[in-house]
Amino acid sequence: MSLKVDCPTCGTPVEWSPLSQYRPFCSDRCRLIDLGEWFSDERSIAGEEHTPSSDTARPQLSAEDLELLEQD
Ligand SMILES: [Zn+2]
Repeated sequence: MSLKVDCPTCGTPVEWSPLSQYRPFCSDRCRLIDLGEWFSDERSIAGEEHTPSSDTARPQLSAEDLELLEQD
């Protein structure tokens, strides 16, 4: 008899034994994915404060620029 856990990343049953060196994950890849998601969550929370807005995409015309355009 053996204890099994579900891989937190993909849900694959993982035997809880010294042979499963990445437990509770089924593989090193799933372990890294889980860590990556954790880090990306941190980043997305921090990045919400300055999401790309349309303000920078629009050229800002000053009053002087408008006067030059009118003289042309
Ligand atoms: Zn997995």
